[in-house]
Amino acid sequence: MTPSAPPAYRLRLPGPCPVPDRVRHAIATTELNHRGPEFREILRDAETLARPLFGTENPILFFAGSGTAVMEASLVNVLAPDERVLVAANGQFSERMKAISLALGAKVDTVEFELGKGVGAAAIAAQLDRHDYRAVVVIHNESATGAVSDIGAIGRVVADRPTLLVVDTVSGLGAIDMRQDEWRVDIAFTASQKALMCPPGLGLVSVSPKAWRVAMRNDGLPRFFWDFRKARAAAEKHETPFTPPVTLVAGLREALHMIHEEGPANVLERHRRLAAALRAGCTALGLRIFTDPTVLSNSVTVLCVPEGIEGSAIVRHMRERYGTVIVGCRDPRLTGRVFRFGTMGHVQDADILVDLEHLGATLRDLGMRVDAGAGVVAAAKLLAG
Ligand SMILES: *Cc1c(COP(=O)(O)O)cnc(C)c1O
Repeated sequence: MTPSAPPAYRLRLPGPCPVPDRVRHAIATTELNHRGPEFREILRDAETLARPLFGTENPILFFAGSGTAVMEASLVNVLAPDERVLVAANGQFSERMKAISLALGAKVDTVEFELGKGVGAAAIAAQLDRHDYRAVVVIHNESATGAVSDIGAIGRVVADRPTLLVVDTVSGLGAIDMRQDEWRVDIAFTASQKALMCPPGLGLVSVSPKAWRVAMRNDGLPRFFWDFRKARAAAEKHETPFTPPVTLVAGLREALHMIHEEGPANVLERHRRLAAALRAGCTALGLRIFTDPTVLSNSVTVLCVPEGIEGSAIVRHMRERYGTVIVGCRDPRLTGRVFRFGTMGHVQDADILVDLEHLGATLRDLGMRVDAGAGVVAAAKLLAG
């Protein structure tokens, strides 16, 4: 077999994320007719096990594709030519939702928020008072900046209007509390390669009754593969309209079993604890957290590149010298200014300690005057407490 990764290769990105052995095994050993009873059972299980993570009673639709595929699917099923959509802009992924909306021919307005901050419900409400919007689009966990938005507060200002609330929880769900029904989110979507501990290639979408009424209308945009109407008709028979990534759905079912065995609340608590430990370690190494301290993400940690170090040097040295694969930021406003660790999915105490060992050594190697072990010490103390 040709090895796909160099020997010491630690995948520590905000997606794709490490895949546990149980999930790999399920993927490697599933070979089934996608319309036979065995696969229907897998799909039914995956839906049943995913619902509590979304916090919903809605049907869940499965699409072959990355997160961006379900971003587009969520928009193409509810927007219409010349209808207005409001994008809450606070980073790279809201920019992508805006670009998709424009490509689909919608009229896009934005409410801008500072990078590193969450989306403010009051500003959204004020804009909804000015115009009628088909949908408001919010990123639950903005992976570029590590900022979490208060979706419940936004839901309260949207719910009593005809406008739909569309939430990208791709890097949130499974790591950060998501309560779709309670928060009155109309469309929530995620992808397999983040906190759901699978390889990339599978998107999940949950659609509220209010959003169904819009998606079922015949005055919308042309769509075929992404048509929620087709997906729902198939989902009622525990099928997908077209051939799904069968092995990934099997992997997802296994990952969801693991989450339920640990307990979804315990999984969220583990993410909280590990993210806090990583931040404490980084702070002890003299680094500054980029994100506003009131909206810190538990699934991605975003750090400022320290003065005197070239933007991409930390990321490069971490990989080349220590095999730890982290990333900068593709948002052009932040490129060279920040670097990011994923702390989502299959991550344990030891992973965070090794991250900090490698980071401390990297900063030292790059000439920073730093106690290279201080990060590990600070995190270990927090993890022991
Ligand atoms: C990863 C991610 C996506 C999806 O990106 P793909 O590369 O298309 O899978 C969407 N939104 C957020 C917030 C993400 O972190």
